[in-house]
Amino acid sequence: MQPIVLWRNPGIPGVRLWADGNLSLGFGLLLLLGRNVLPDFISIVVSNALIVGGICLIRGGFRMLLGRLPAGRRAFLLFMAAYVCAVSYFTYGSESIRIRAILLSLFSIVPCLAIVLDTVGSPSSKHLVLPIFVGMAASHALFNIVRVCVLAGAPEGGNLYDDGILLRENIIELILFLFILSIEYVLAISLHLSNRNRELSEIDSLTRVFNRRVFSELLERERRRAVPFALLYVDIDRFKAVNDTFGHAAGDCVLEQFALRLRETLRSRDIIGRLGGDEFAVIMPDADASDARSAAERAKRHVETSGFDFEGTPIRVTISIGIAGTDMRGKSFEQINREADAALYEAKRSGRNRVVAYEPADCERSV
Ligand code: GH3
Ligand code: MG
Repeated sequence: MQPIVLWRNPGIPGVRLWADGNLSLGFGLLLLLGRNVLPDFISIVVSNALIVGGICLIRGGFRMLLGRLPAGRRAFLLFMAAYVCAVSYFTYGSESIRIRAILLSLFSIVPCLAIVLDTVGSPSSKHLVLPIFVGMAASHALFNIVRVCVLAGAPEGGNLYDDGILLRENIIELILFLFILSIEYVLAISLHLSNRNRELSEIDSLTRVFNRRVFSELLERERRRAVPFALLYVDIDRFKAVNDTFGHAAGDCVLEQFALRLRETLRSRDIIGRLGGDEFAVIMPDADASDARSAAERAKRHVETSGFDFEGTPIRVTISIGIAGTDMRGKSFEQINREADAALYEAKRSGRNRVVAYEPADCERSV
């Protein structure tokens, strides 16, 4: 199943690591089942290393799905080298099935607990239904902690495999672990894809603000709430000249940074959208006229003074802002947009680099 999922979803972060981890865990389990048939090196050292390594790789894939970097390759190799040396020592040096079993549990607990810790405080974890997966990691860690306690008290020298303390429970638990992991693996990928599709259909890919369609829906929702709010139309002055002077890539870079500048000066609940080209709009919920004006003046000043940077070349632009009134009662969606547009037109007409609030007397020619 993994190769098919992997082949169909090559761009998803962490999928390759996750698939490799599941495969490694599955192979390790198979080799473990070959105990007493396969040579000790394969059924003990290699199988245990594949199981522990598999869990570590799955943890790396999980971190990447959460938008974080996997643990470094060097740390992974050191961890695995320490484990292989220890298992080899207790196989060929001073043989102890008990200590080998304790080692397998201890080295499995580490990546499982790491998965649980990775999730705590990760903002992206709430977008993915991962509690089952994290619960699985926590139960696997718990199972192994119990196993370590049982084994620590077990007498040295008894045949723990024949007694079933090790092999049966361990294999049943591992099969269950692998089975649920595989289901969760496919589930996480489908959730990731649906989140990504939703984002692609709602967010402007260049500036990371809402696209026109979603912004309009949010504006209509705000209008229906029938409480005061402000609508700002924001447009870069003579943006065409930026493209003509520095190139289209520089223009894109300015648009990208411009959206960040807007975000920096506005309140976190203000909604930003790109209406198209160099024209943006902002909904300021519950803002009165003076809130809207001071936010607009702040944004204008910030853009003017901070400037932009394209590959080391400084680029300066100014913006014009039109504000539609704040008492929107009884106004239609079209009327509100027309007012913001008329105020912006007035700002451009009267010299650019300014903020104009809609006043019927000033703007009536353009409404
Ligand atoms: P004004 O002060 O009147 O707003 O002048 P302006 O030059 O900003 O306005 P105009 O509408 O004439 O030009 C907007 C330009 O924005 C034209 C278009 O080439 C450019 N543009 C639109 N979308 C993009 C984009 O995604 N990337 C880049 N680099 N340029 C874009
Ligand atoms: Mg413009």
